Formats: sequence, C-alpha cells, structure tokens
Amino acid sequence: MKSINAKLDLLVVGAGFAGSVIAERLASAGMQVMLIDRREHVGGNAFDELDEHGVLIHRYGPHIFHTNAHRVVEYLSQFTEWIPYEHRVLAHVDGQLLPIPINRLTVNRLYGLNLDEAGVRAFFDVVREPREPLSTSEDVVLNAVGRDLYEKFFRGYTRKQWGLDPSELSASVTSRIPVRINDDCRYFTDEFQIMPKEGYGALFERMLAHPNITIELGVEFMAEKWRYPVRHVVYTGPIDAYFNYCFGRLPYRSLRFECEHIANRPWFQPVGVVNYPNDHQFTRITEYKHLTGQSHPGTTIMREYPQNEGEPYYPVPRPENETLYHCYKSRAESEENTSFVGRLAQYRYYNMDQVVAAALKLADKLIDKLNRN
Ligand code: FAD
Ligand code: UDP
Repeated sequence: MKSINAKLDLLVVGAGFAGSVIAERLASAGMQVMLIDRREHVGGNAFDELDEHGVLIHRYGPHIFHTNAHRVVEYLSQFTEWIPYEHRVLAHVDGQLLPIPINRLTVNRLYGLNLDEAGVRAFFDVVREPREPLSTSEDVVLNAVGRDLYEKFFRGYTRKQWGLDPSELSASVTSRIPVRINDDCRYFTDEFQIMPKEGYGALFERMLAHPNITIELGVEFMAEKWRYPVRHVVYTGPIDAYFNYCFGRLPYRSLRFECEHIANRPWFQPVGVVNYPNDHQFTRITEYKHLTGQSHPGTTIMREYPQNEGEPYYPVPRPENETLYHCYKSRAESEENTSFVGRLAQYRYYNMDQVVAAALKLADKLIDKLNRN
C-alpha cells in the first residue's frame, strides 16, 4: 500500500465514541482528519445493525444511553433525535424474576414479606455486615444488604462475568448497582435516559459526515502506522498493545454473544434485560425490541457468555491492574504527539457518556495545541 501524501493534521485510531467525537470536533475546527479502525464499521462497541430477520440489535451487547451530563446530550443531539427509554432489569433468583437493583419489591417477594420503606431499611440494618473500609466489590454488597442477598444476586453473576470472586475486584464494580428501599425498578436514575431514535449507526454516520474527515476501515494501526505522516495521533485502542506489551499484558474481559430469533412471537421476556446470577453459563439475556422501541412480529434475544480470550471489552478493575496501567500511563505521558482516550486506552470502566465527555475535553485541548503549533 502507498504512503498517504495528503496534508493530514490528525490521525485518529478507533472509530468508537472516543475516536469519532475527536474526529468530528477537530474536523469542525478546520483540521484534516484521518479516522481508521481495524473493524469494517464505525461506532466501536456501540455499533448496531439489522439482523437477518430485520430486528435492530447491538452487535457487541446492549448499549443503553444514560447520563446527567448536559454537555454530552447537547453535543450528541446535533446528530440524532432521541426516544425515551427507562431501562429495567429482572434477576432470575430462586425461580422468580425479581427487580435488580434490589429494592422493596425484591425483598418482599423473595422473602414473602410485606415491609414498607422503613421496614426495608430496618431489614437491611439487621442483615448487613458492616465493612470498613469498602475496598472490594464483596465489601460493598455485604455492607449494604448482607450475605444472603449477596450470594443470591451478586456472587455468582460476578464470578461468571469477571472470572473472579467479588473479593478480588475493586469496590467500583458492584458500586455501579445501587440498593433502594423504595419501589423504583429503573436500572438508572440519571436525568437523561434516552436512545438514539434511528439507532447508533445513524448517529455515527451523521457525526462523521464532515468533508474534512477521511475514513479507512479494516486498517490495523500497529501494522500500518508508517502510512500516516501526521502532526498528531489520537489512539483509542488498548494502551498495552500500543506499547507492545512492554510492561506485561493488561487483563481485559471478553464476551461471546449468541443471538436467537423467535419468529411470530412478539415478546420473549417482560423487560429489556434478565440477569441469571446462578443458572446457566451466560450472565444475561437482552431482548432488543424493548431497548429500541422497534415493532416487529418476531423478536431477537442475545445471550452473553463471558470469557478471557477475544476482543477486549472490559478493563478489569483491581489494584494490581491499576498499578500496571499506571506504568503505561506514565509512558503515554511522555509521547508528545500522541494522546490516549477512551475505555481501552485509559483502562477505565467507562460508560458511553463518560467517553464522550473525556473526548470533548481532549478535543478542546488539541484544538488549542494544534492551532498554536
Ligand atoms: P470502543 O467502542 O471499544 O472503540 C475502540 C475502537 O478502536 C474499536 O472499534 C476498535 O476496533 C478500534 N481499535 C482498537 N485498536 C485498534 C488498532 N490497533 N487499529 C485500528 N483500530 C483499533 N456504555 C453505556 O453507556 N451504556 C451501556 O449500556 C453499555 N453497555 C455495554 C455493554 C457491553 C457488553 C460493553 C462491552 C460495553 C458497554 N458500554 C456501555 C460501554 C461502551 O461500549 C463504551 O463506553 C464505549 O463504547 C467506549 O468507546 P471507545 O471509543 O472508548 O471504545
Ligand atoms: N452485578 C451482579 N449482579 C447483577 C448485576 C450486576 O453481580 O444482577 C455486578 C457484576 O459484577 C457486574 C457489575 O455488578 O459486572 C456491574 O453491573 P452492570 O450491569 O453495570 O454491568 P455492565 O452492563 O457494564 O456489564
């Protein structure tokens, strides 16, 4: 392949939310941007598509947009309209489908009780195992709801999802899931709980339809970086791969996704996601029509099977990984003409909105820097 001779200001590696936001912002500021991805599509892990039956699915697992960040919603709203969607999840426990996050209804249905909110608070006070400090994911749950609820809802799910016991994971993992004493069955309580009206694909298409952006797909940066003489690189892939694993491999957890289409049956399950903490090899089943609002006479569901091998999907939050990441981060800080942003490059268990916020912040800095030089 020939070396590219055009005057490029910026090469962006990875066309997920991190890379695409950077590309759009810098292109809109007048820079010539090349955006590459080793996959054959843009959108990164938020990519969606119609399956062979015409049902809109997310190829890399369910992506539900929720945020409190006004700036992020304002920014993305340039590229999409939204539909409201409040995510609800049930967990299959002791033969019942019970609300998760654990709330008043969960406790009453699981134990056959009829507690009011004060009663549930008192119940948690009796069963909880106070822990100080809250260092691990086990500490967080035991401290809030005690051993029985921990074992029924969290221990099995976490072991499956991460291949680690909750006691081996940082507190931040299970801290993502609140505990409630009221009847609120929503998974998130963010101010904005919305989905792109025509899907993520259409959102990315509009975001990247700028004359200053050139896109090349199916390109592996590590093999072909010599082709792109640029003033600056923004890298959004795994940070350890960028440095050729010089300090050792950072663990990333992967998943295998298995789809099933059920024809002529409008619904498979009552809510978007059902978690299976204690049965099966998979962690959860997503039924996409709940998330997307699509109408279709049939339905498509997706099961998620966690595994170590394969695409890096999740950084694994635990102290030794954080230490290793910091070796890479220090090395990255000395790369003057390369910036690192995104879930894989920053080794952060980021949601989409956090990635967009981080990319917007970096874009402002880069526009400044490139305009000065
Ligand atoms: P990515 O989307 O991973 O994009 C990185 C891109 O870089 C990829 O396309 C990759 O192919 C490319 N790349 C990497 N290395 C190279 C290379 N060397 N050369 C060329 N290209 C390269 N967030 C939410 O807010 N809500 C959710 O409900 C939600 N659910 C999720 C469910 C699952 C199963 C997963 C895995 C994640 C979920 N997330 C969710 C998180 C969300 O996916 C991320 O926050 C977001 O997509 C990260 O964007 P990114 O651009 O940092 O990374
Ligand atoms: N979790 C659990 N049981 C559940 C839901 C979540 O043990 O029913 C734990 C598990 O460790 C999981 C983490 O909480 O990985 C975060 O859950 P979340 O739904 O945020 O995971 P994601 O959607 O990012 O995979």
